[in-house]
Amino acid sequence: MATQPSGDSVITSDTAETKEAADSAATEHAPYQRFEHLSTSESGLHYVRDRRSGTIRLLTEQELQDFNDPPPCAECGEQFGCEHVNCAGEPALSESEIELEVPPEWRPFARAEGLSRQDLERLKKLGEHEGEYRVISTDSPDMRTLELLLLLNYGNG
Ligand SMILES: [Zn+2]
Repeated sequence: MATQPSGDSVITSDTAETKEAADSAATEHAPYQRFEHLSTSESGLHYVRDRRSGTIRLLTEQELQDFNDPPPCAECGEQFGCEHVNCAGEPALSESEIELEVPPEWRPFARAEGLSRQDLERLKKLGEHEGEYRVISTDSPDMRTLELLLLLNYGNG
């Protein structure tokens, strides 16, 4: 008795999937802002909505500027340092920029921690003394200079 192997009836479904045209319209995304600006009063006060808490606030021009200082990262909205920008709001140099602009002795540090072009100037204000970095410049260091100092002294274990 020859049993006929049941023909594998492969059901080819020709459901024409209407592929939604991958509309890769250039998603222009505006720089992230903490506040959505609602209106400005006659006296020059700004009505804004805090995007995080949703609360509406009334800010003076100066307060509004203070809230954007440092300006938040355009990518993720973080204001005080992320992988895109350092805490001074400056973009990190890319690998090719590191090759071109960063002195060889600072390249490993630049790759490990991310350095901006301005950071290179800050590094000139720092000097190494008996294995410890310190500020050698006479002008008062900014926050990012101090952060670099910490990274140099304690950052890379
Ligand atoms: Zn970011």
